[in-house]
Amino acid sequence: MSNKEHSFDTKVIHAGQTPDAWLNSTLAPVFQSAAHRFPDAEGLSRVFAGKEPGHIYMRLRNPTNEALERRVSALEGAIGAVATSSGMAAITDAVLAILKAGDHIVAGNSLFMSTYLLFTQVIKKFGIEVTLVDPMKPEEWKKAVKPSTRLFFAETIGNPVMDVPDLARLAAVAHDAGCPLVVDNTLATPWLCRPLDLGADIVVHSTTKFLNGHGSAVGGIILDSGKFGWPDDRYADFKPFKDRAGARAFLDRVWREIHINFGTSAAPWHSYLTLIGIDTLALRMERHCRNAEALAVWLKAHPKVKWVNYPGLPDHPAHPVARSQFKGLGFGGLLTFGLADEKACFELIRRLKLVYHLANLGDCKTLIIHPWSSQYVSFPEDRRRALNIFPDLLRVSVGIEAIDDIIGDFDQALSQL
Ligand code: PLP
Repeated sequence: MSNKEHSFDTKVIHAGQTPDAWLNSTLAPVFQSAAHRFPDAEGLSRVFAGKEPGHIYMRLRNPTNEALERRVSALEGAIGAVATSSGMAAITDAVLAILKAGDHIVAGNSLFMSTYLLFTQVIKKFGIEVTLVDPMKPEEWKKAVKPSTRLFFAETIGNPVMDVPDLARLAAVAHDAGCPLVVDNTLATPWLCRPLDLGADIVVHSTTKFLNGHGSAVGGIILDSGKFGWPDDRYADFKPFKDRAGARAFLDRVWREIHINFGTSAAPWHSYLTLIGIDTLALRMERHCRNAEALAVWLKAHPKVKWVNYPGLPDHPAHPVARSQFKGLGFGGLLTFGLADEKACFELIRRLKLVYHLANLGDCKTLIIHPWSSQYVSFPEDRRRALNIFPDLLRVSVGIEAIDDIIGDFDQALSQL
């Protein structure tokens, strides 16, 4: 292969492959081994001491997980990555590597439900405070900054609120406050948006979704630009990691301090399935976006549909930011829409034949869910409304089937309401 940097569509298939290290196999093999043998104690000691690279134990490192780390690093333009057991494990590892008791996070107020609970309830128990602000209003982020603020956290596209923050502006506000910007890029994927190119410092993903694309595995990943310097005055406890790993200080800290001790490592079989999924990411994302746009337009014109929330619609408040940030490629595969009431939503779900009713997104199949009565059912009503979750709201993850068949299924189901 030539030395010229390949285009994204080639990197999704080839980046990070080391076939000669894998007996020339064309796929990264599944190294399904909890531990690796060493012929002598000296060798094991050298690897434990970090004097030599090597694999010791699956919770620490695994060659299949490393293939996934290399591939997604190339796609996001990161200097390296740590693969994790789920998207939530990636978020947990990333924030715990940065924060300690007494620290403060500024984050978007439309966070994915488990991230919302992690920030507002779980890490609160350890003395970490969060202020939630409108992702579309950088001035609110600026106002929320305190002397103890150590982290900004945003999502490229809010699930299921569908807001799209201007990441370059948020990164500028974060850097003015001396903080890194961490972005959950699960819904956009690097095909639509590379947050590190826009000034973000760290990216996290649930690889379970569009990266995998087939609903066949759960996983997550943390990626680092290596550009945030972790200045000693605000991040004094980063010093040993900087001294050891330089630009890779954050990744070193994630891995050494949090990942291996919390045991959030990825399962190699899941990384293998995710790598196969990533091969077709570019093709799938193009179709997801095209289908979602067509479905959004069709739903909007339907007399039984009260409203449609999709950043690809020209009157959507996030449309201008999304158009420029996603380089005109599309607006993602997720949309929400409203029917008359909860009963109508339940009835539609019952009548759909092609569309699967389940709690996931980013699959190549079209999926639907009623968040009010499912993921958010244990939240008090007023909290659900404050989070923009309403009884009349349905969320659709638009798949890559023929668009006529997707629309046909909604058509037959809506006509029976
Ligand atoms: N981030 C976003 C935006 C998500 O939508 C999800 C799950 O739906 C997650 C993180 C968590 O991912 P996982 O289920 O892999 O832990």
